[in-house]
Amino acid sequence: AQGTVDAVARALSRADTVRRLEVRANADTPEDAARARRFGAQGIGLCRTEHMFLGERRKLVEQMILAGTDAERDRALADLLPLQRRDFAGILEAMDGLPVTIRLLDPPLHEFLPDRTELAVRIATAQARGEEPDAHDVELLGAVNRMHEENPMLGLRGVRLGLVVPGLVTMQVRAIGEAVTERLLAGGAPQAEIMVPLVGDVRELRLVRAEVQRVLAETSRAAGVVLDCPVGTMIELPRAALTAGRIAEEAEFFSFGTNDLTQTTWGFSRDDVEAEFFSAYLDKGVFSTSPFETLDREGVGRLVGIAVAEGRATRPDLKIGVCGEHGGDPDSVHFFHTAGLDYVSCSPFRVPVARLEAGRAALAEAEGSDSR
Ligand code: PEP
Ligand code: MG
Repeated sequence: AQGTVDAVARALSRADTVRRLEVRANADTPEDAARARRFGAQGIGLCRTEHMFLGERRKLVEQMILAGTDAERDRALADLLPLQRRDFAGILEAMDGLPVTIRLLDPPLHEFLPDRTELAVRIATAQARGEEPDAHDVELLGAVNRMHEENPMLGLRGVRLGLVVPGLVTMQVRAIGEAVTERLLAGGAPQAEIMVPLVGDVRELRLVRAEVQRVLAETSRAAGVVLDCPVGTMIELPRAALTAGRIAEEAEFFSFGTNDLTQTTWGFSRDDVEAEFFSAYLDKGVFSTSPFETLDREGVGRLVGIAVAEGRATRPDLKIGVCGEHGGDPDSVHFFHTAGLDYVSCSPFRVPVARLEAGRAALAEAEGSDSR
């Protein structure tokens, strides 16, 4: 067994000397970040902040989104701020000296809002008993009904939420700025990057970026430190890929969200790959592997190519990565190398595989044997 371990270590270190792609990991906790680092990750390419709003904090998110008054919403945001600051400080500490891409909140709304059927049943049950239904339940049901969406994955998510809920972007960016400050004052070398999800138009990014910069400048002034956090965007909608030249005017980096990009390019639900017809498509040979696992080069891959070319035409030093599941799939990693990306980001456990494949792709290119 020791022989195998040594052989793998040698292969990895050889891959590291030749590869051009940087390999980062997707992680949302200090524990995952530390694990990713042990696997050789060179930073965090995606920290999904919505994962920090589950459990007991769900209540605060619910209050923030469904708030009846501005004061109620501001209170929920004020309660969330110190929790977020601690989340970010922990991850920045675990990844000290390496880039950490923190993505602004991107929850599909239905994952956070209370279940309206449950609420309706509770209210109806009370009424059937001749009792007065709980006033809070009634108020909540009204709010949930107003926010209801038939297609939450195509609805109020990502940047749209940031633009619609006053104070949300401000709270998250302030928490990032304060966490970076805390690490700087402790002698660390935090490298936070701020990423905006689900952008489809440069104007969305322009609005959010202006707010990000305003809050960072305010935090810098208050703390007497220099906060230099690049701001970038996910490219995960066909429209973003097709207008990447414009979007790059406001972005210092791009990261392809190939999960959503595959979903929106094919029009397949990423949450329903277990549906019967999907395996029928595999059986019939429409595709040989799921496009959610191996990047579809003809469709999604072309959009990636367009976005890379247009983005760099606007901004030659644009940093470009990928943080969808494909970032850890060998065939897709090979494609991302050829497409000229700077980094792939994948789950911590897939980091070694991505390092190996990135090395293999670089060698194949150098030998002129790149047939893929
Ligand atoms: C993606 O869409 O590929 C992505 C990385 O974001 P998420 O999976 O969180 O939607
Ligand atoms: Mg996405």
